[in-house]
Amino acid sequence: MTEGPPPVPPPGHPGPYAPPPAGPPAHSPLVGPYGPPAPYGLPPYPPPGPYAPPPAPGRRSRRGLWIGLGAAALALALCAVGSLVGLKLYLDERNNASAAALDDTYNAIRQEKIEALLAAHTTALTKRDEKAFVAPFDPTTKGLVAEQTSLYRNLSKLPLADVRFTYLTKGDIRPVGGGHEVDVTVAFVHRFDGFDLGPVEEWYRWTIVQTDREAPLKVTRAGGFPEERKRDAITHYPAPWDKWRSIHVERTPHTLLIIDSSLRAAAQRYAPTAEQAAVADLAAWRAGGVSAKVPPGFVISLVKGRTELGSLYRTTKETPTESGVAIPVPPEGVLHSDKKSPVVGATRVVIDVRDAYHFTRGTRERQLNLFRHEIGHALVGNLTARAPGSYRVGEQETWLVEGFAEYLGHGRKPWLTSERTADSRAVIREIGLPRSLPNGPAWDLEGRVGYHYWLGHSAIGYLVERYGEQKMFQLVAEHYCSRKIGEVTQDVLGVSYEEFEKAWLAYLKTEVR
Ligand SMILES: [Zn+2]
Repeated sequence: MTEGPPPVPPPGHPGPYAPPPAGPPAHSPLVGPYGPPAPYGLPPYPPPGPYAPPPAPGRRSRRGLWIGLGAAALALALCAVGSLVGLKLYLDERNNASAAALDDTYNAIRQEKIEALLAAHTTALTKRDEKAFVAPFDPTTKGLVAEQTSLYRNLSKLPLADVRFTYLTKGDIRPVGGGHEVDVTVAFVHRFDGFDLGPVEEWYRWTIVQTDREAPLKVTRAGGFPEERKRDAITHYPAPWDKWRSIHVERTPHTLLIIDSSLRAAAQRYAPTAEQAAVADLAAWRAGGVSAKVPPGFVISLVKGRTELGSLYRTTKETPTESGVAIPVPPEGVLHSDKKSPVVGATRVVIDVRDAYHFTRGTRERQLNLFRHEIGHALVGNLTARAPGSYRVGEQETWLVEGFAEYLGHGRKPWLTSERTADSRAVIREIGLPRSLPNGPAWDLEGRVGYHYWLGHSAIGYLVERYGEQKMFQLVAEHYCSRKIGEVTQDVLGVSYEEFEKAWLAYLKTEVR
């Protein structure tokens, strides 16, 4: 995901970007998959993490790597893939054996029955049949039917299209009582009509029980993955429709706000700002002249505080520091995708309306900046591509990803008028001019994050002033499509990356003098 930018320090805030004590950056974009490595919001998704769905113990369906960021995640992914291949071979051999050789346990819960159950579940949702939707869930499991009833009612409020519950993987079948049970990974495939370019997936883990061969299947557990890694955006559970008992949906022409019902008044208050931001970013994109498709609208949730910000569409170990985040969600079929398949199906935006800088002590202009910034990440999220010949998401320069979002966030106005300028000048007075564009782990250096956003913004500002806005959009789009930054500066600007960086440094020196 992309993160949102850190909040700009309150005017007059002493010091270099010290975000308000305890304070998080304003928003951090989780931008996607590549997310800026860093402190901010790690991108939850993008696919941070290899996208292998948490394996249902047992049979898995091939690889499916979503790769995100991080060496640790990658290592995990590779391990998972290796064991999966072995597992798959084993399972395939069993599938090819004669029917007589199949042991009773393996065959105890037939695949066709699971698929029929999911097909009926899909029909129940699309035909608006609440009773049929909750019928497979075990009434003796505490709270399960109530949860699924809430889920059904929440989903019924959403403008969903291409809805399907599909089978992904299952684990080993275990004897239980007089029958058997199995854990199944279920994909909830869906598209927000009028907002998403294509269908995306959220993954659930269900435990399905069959008391004897002829008995109907019962679902005794439904939700996320119990062993979910502490910081991930692999399954995209819980989504707002899972997390909250009763959602409220506030729709504008270009935004869909999905919030807990307790935030209805806030959603009504901020919806016009979100709409204004979406319209501004879409207009900027059109003016930029890049022909690639961007989403027609944006799905946004408002949350109360940082803990909630870190618990929607992902699970995070640490409390996030950003004020907002943009989380990429994979397209349908990602588990079976290849190295050329898209990695981002849509990008969900989450905004913390308890954030002091933007909201409780903020201004409408700051809120607009935050919405434009996060929607800016969502605008270009679908362009994200894998590195050539790899399942991994291509590397993206953090200064470019965040500088672009800052440029849109700031309403395309001159970067020196950013609220970050005063503090950033103070940083330069203290440590001197930078020697390079900020990127990599140094991006998150304590007390410097806001300064780094500002430097990224200055580089985008330089591109616009020196080459024109359309060249800047072209450069950003091509780099998102995983072309290396040096190739892109050469093709689009006619200079090497080193020459570009040197020219930007000279420009910066003149501008901040
Ligand atoms: Zn951002």
